[in-house]
Amino acid sequence: MSDKYAIDSHKLSYHPQRVAQWIEAGDDIEKLKKIYPVYIEISPVGACNHRCTFCGVDYIGYQNVRWDKELLKIKISEMAQKGVKSLMFAGEGEPLLHKDLDKVIEHCSKVGIDSSITTNFVCLNEDNANKIVKNSSWIKISINAGTRESYAAIHRTKESDFDKVLENMKLAVKIRKEYNYKCTLGAQMLLLPENKDDAVTLAKIVKNIGLDYLVIKPYSQHLFSETKKYKDIDYKPMLELEKELEKLNDENFNIVFRSNTMKKLDSGHSYGKCYSTPYFWAHLMANGDLYGCSAYLQQSKFCYGNLKEDSFQDVWESEKRIKSITYVKEKLDISGCRENCRMDEVNGYLWRLKNPQDHDNFI
Ligand code: SF4
Repeated sequence: MSDKYAIDSHKLSYHPQRVAQWIEAGDDIEKLKKIYPVYIEISPVGACNHRCTFCGVDYIGYQNVRWDKELLKIKISEMAQKGVKSLMFAGEGEPLLHKDLDKVIEHCSKVGIDSSITTNFVCLNEDNANKIVKNSSWIKISINAGTRESYAAIHRTKESDFDKVLENMKLAVKIRKEYNYKCTLGAQMLLLPENKDDAVTLAKIVKNIGLDYLVIKPYSQHLFSETKKYKDIDYKPMLELEKELEKLNDENFNIVFRSNTMKKLDSGHSYGKCYSTPYFWAHLMANGDLYGCSAYLQQSKFCYGNLKEDSFQDVWESEKRIKSITYVKEKLDISGCRENCRMDEVNGYLWRLKNPQDHDNFI
């Protein structure tokens, strides 16, 4: 199946200079601390209007904390200066609940950082839509059902939100076409026993609306989630869905059925150490705390400081991050990490670079 955006793999290999900086640094802590992330996830707000049954960050509690627009813009400028290339607004809350997100995303364009949003899309509206579609590289809409009834049950919200999301998809597609914007518009369904029979229906709906893709991805148990409902989910009986969905692929629409990730759930890690953290990515919470890994939010060993109090450079090069470099290198047991974590494919790639195999020189 087509995966033109490498959603089921990784793209760190397209940043050879950053990777070379890391290899060249070796064990030199002064050099390692200067390696800045390529990609950062930001939670502009902690609150959420939904309570999805599978939510991995339920333990954070959907707190009503948010970033001040002007302060967040300053932090994004600092990130741009230090070589951060992309931001995704998502995290522990629903990003579109931040009423100034459109202006923040516009600022990303001004300072030369690519931005994107993962959202349930209920709160798009006529006022914020144009700036958001104009300035985002991509928008991924989390929609986990194909009917109003199952949507309401899985997102634990009202049925009318399903209609609202479809209307907002149409609005985004219309704006993109009218102004010839480049934003990629996609949707994502997390595959569950409760929605597997909706997958084809949903794919047809979003294809008809004019979205570019639908991702079907597996659940992965978060280490600290309160919900454990899906921890033993078995995807083998659901893999055949791929063939049915594949029939909908054409030059304008792709199904990204993440079978690679589903199959990996049974095979464990392909690497012995995490080399992504704390170098190539980071996660900024709505309360200002900056973490090296989004699977360890609220875990002090992965928190380097607070960006509402200090500059990005001061936090990223802090003693706490230096301690985290040593901790991840010497003590972190990745068998306790979230399966198929966001950096799983990146880690496989970095592990191979550090552990060359026979014949690698025969390019
Ligand atoms: S969850 Fe993944 S990225 Fe985070 S520390 Fe573990 S292996 Fe690294």
